[in-house]
Amino acid sequence: MRSYQVVDFGFPLREATAPDPAPSGHEVVVAVEACGVCHSDLHIWEGSYDLGGGKRLMLKDRGIPLPLTPGHEVAGVIVRVGPEVTDRKVGEKVLVYPWIGCGQCRVCREGRENLCMKPRCLGVHCDGGYASEMVVPHSRYLLPLDGLDAKIAAPYACSGLTSYSALKKFGATLKDEPLLVIGAGGLGLMTVTILRAMGGKGAVVVDIDAKRREAALAAGALAAVDGGAPDALAQVQQAFGGPVWAALDLVGSSQTGALGFDALAKGGKLVLVGLFGGATPWSMPLIPMKAATIEGSYTGNLRELAELLDLLRTGAIPPIPMGARPLAEATQTLEDLKAGRIVGRVVLTP
Ligand SMILES: [Zn+2]
Ligand SMILES: [Zn+2]
Repeated sequence: MRSYQVVDFGFPLREATAPDPAPSGHEVVVAVEACGVCHSDLHIWEGSYDLGGGKRLMLKDRGIPLPLTPGHEVAGVIVRVGPEVTDRKVGEKVLVYPWIGCGQCRVCREGRENLCMKPRCLGVHCDGGYASEMVVPHSRYLLPLDGLDAKIAAPYACSGLTSYSALKKFGATLKDEPLLVIGAGGLGLMTVTILRAMGGKGAVVVDIDAKRREAALAAGALAAVDGGAPDALAQVQQAFGGPVWAALDLVGSSQTGALGFDALAKGGKLVLVGLFGGATPWSMPLIPMKAATIEGSYTGNLRELAELLDLLRTGAIPPIPMGARPLAEATQTLEDLKAGRIVGRVVLTP
């Protein structure tokens, strides 16, 4: 098998070859047909997160082993199964759920493995899908594609799931109230389209990039506001024409967090997803005075991914712009993503 690995944080990925893996126990080997390139791959590649105030979270201090094959948005075909696997067959096309936990703790037992304190996420803590083949530790993490195109389905394992799980945190509000969505990258476009498919009222999108604002409008956003404008907040309020009850920050910088919070009505909710970095921008007393809810959302659970695939199969989610590139362009793709040169999603196709 062939893979592209992070050998040293921040340096070009290196091609590696190894014998094809032989699965044991409940393991399944999937031949990768498509692997999405996600913003969090950038953090893994760079090896750190900006915590604000000059502090950085270093991945080498968090048990991220090198060399590591990134890639957590994987769809492909089963090529080998371990002796204990009875529910999946060779030749079956599947989407891989990558947010795997220890399986023992409270959140894992509750089916919220994505919140486990001892994560074993594929492409983050274990080798992922920037490869011709990958090992999945248990067949239960594989969801049948049932006719869906691997290139279309792959990004739903992270960007789609992250959008869906974040949207669910607003509950019924989204049926009658528009949602403020900050950030119109791959995640933002996914959010706009999934919100429509869920029967939501719609999204007002903020982005500093004109091309991405256009893409958001094309994906069905109600309005798009330039986040770099000095009167961005006033423009957001004008686009809503009323109170903002729900805001979703997919960027996660001090600036976008401030915009989302400042826009909120009393009793409103801000959900944070983006990991751009920085310190929290809110004055403490304003949180109780606005009776605001600020909630973090991190990926999603296996049940939510199954629900989302069902929604995708109905055809209700319009496709977002998608590009396919050969696996050998992994480093170039990460560089393009970092420089903001990608609209929509790129999948690598080994
Ligand atoms: Zn991701
Ligand atoms: Zn656990």
